[in-house]
Amino acid sequence: MEKAEKSKVCRTCGADVTEAGRWKNLQDEYYCEACFAKRPKKEDPQGLKRCSWCGAKVPRQKCHKNRHGEYICRRCGDAGHKESRVRTLKKKIRPAGKWVLYAVGAVVVIAVAYKVFGMLAGRM
Ligand SMILES: [Zn+2]
Ligand SMILES: [Zn+2]
Repeated sequence: MEKAEKSKVCRTCGADVTEAGRWKNLQDEYYCEACFAKRPKKEDPQGLKRCSWCGAKVPRQKCHKNRHGEYICRRCGDAGHKESRVRTLKKKIRPAGKWVLYAVGAVVVIAVAYKVFGMLAGRM
């Protein structure tokens, strides 16, 4: 018979997880399934970060943290995405919104001018 494996215990509750379903974090610490599910969400055992663009979970070393504190995976970074979709969209909308305002303004000016000229023409 093989030498007994060093028993693995849950870091939180101390339960023996040698046989049971267990989770291991980066520090080689074990958690039973119940404690793993209850653990603070911030503590990601695999140290994975969520890409702000595509939502993929990638290891920290495989993603880039931009100046907004958002993580962008290498694949998205290579595709030219530097920020989350929301930020990118806002940047695109802002100049577009300005042009829409200009267009609306121009239409109003033309309409008013047309009316004024119409009135003038009617008086003549
Ligand atoms: Zn536990
Ligand atoms: Zn991505």
